Amino acid sequence: MSDTFRLTFYGTRGSRTVPGAQAGRWGGHTTCLGIRAGSRELIFDAGSGIVPLGESLVRQHMSAAPQEVLRAYLFQTHTHLDHLCGLPYFIPLYLPLTTLWMLGPRTAHLSFQETIERLLHPPFHPVPLFEMPSLIRWGEIAEPTSALFVRGQHDPLLLNLKHPDQRALAPPPEEIEVAVHTLHGYNHPKCGVTIYRVEHAGRAVVFATDVEGYVHGDQRLIRFARGADVLIHDAMYTADRYANPNTPTQGWGHSTVEIAAEVARAADVGHLYLVHHDPGHDDARLAQMETLGQSLFPRTTSAFDGLSIDLLDTPRR
Ligand SMILES: [Zn+2]
Ligand SMILES: [Zn+2]
Repeated sequence: MSDTFRLTFYGTRGSRTVPGAQAGRWGGHTTCLGIRAGSRELIFDAGSGIVPLGESLVRQHMSAAPQEVLRAYLFQTHTHLDHLCGLPYFIPLYLPLTTLWMLGPRTAHLSFQETIERLLHPPFHPVPLFEMPSLIRWGEIAEPTSALFVRGQHDPLLLNLKHPDQRALAPPPEEIEVAVHTLHGYNHPKCGVTIYRVEHAGRAVVFATDVEGYVHGDQRLIRFARGADVLIHDAMYTADRYANPNTPTQGWGHSTVEIAAEVARAADVGHLYLVHHDPGHDDARLAQMETLGQSLFPRTTSAFDGLSIDLLDTPRR
């Protein structure tokens, strides 16, 4: 079977969904990115976009291998509601054939599992997680932990590769099918955000949503994203609004198109995808922002719901 490294944007809006015709060409779902890497179904964030992702997963699974277990790995960047609001409606949770690994960062006072269990529980949701027929596996992931997917093994290995004792536990590179590395972004209120770098078949994708830049660029992020084939970066605003005294958005934990392009250029990435679109922006505004991005970093696309990229079809960096 031929190898795959495919990204699909299921939700590209930030903050809230956008209904019906107002959503326009870009679509109205909040953050969710699907990555098929080799044999693994990885999901990044459970915004409302995880609902169509779940339906598509079940459809594919039912036509390809209905007797087998449907395995998926959900990585959360953080637990703000725009990144979680689709989880209660993620159909695979309600199927006994599903095994879902949920991996994400702990917050100041709660483990990742406690955070999610509080949300999917009465009075917020009628069916608590422990009543669901699917099998849920938990993992806490944040810098400096990486998740390594070893060929032939279902459970990811969670290791701090910066520590020699843990590095010694890592299998040789040829046995690792997919590696997911983490960077903590301190610049998103109040608990920060986890930025992910997914590596497979010699290619790399960096997912940096809900990040805000720094003067001269976020040097830690630039280092983390260096040479990636794809950088997906928050670009909710433009510089004129960000710094406008009447509509200031500094400190809200989001970036401008200018900030995203600066990181892409400094990190020398292959392609930049802009995400976390302001729900108030219509097609005309988003097209303008895309053009602005392309004037600063030519290989820029403003990601829209349903956009899919086959990384192995694009020339190697
Ligand atoms: Zn957000
Ligand atoms: Zn957020």
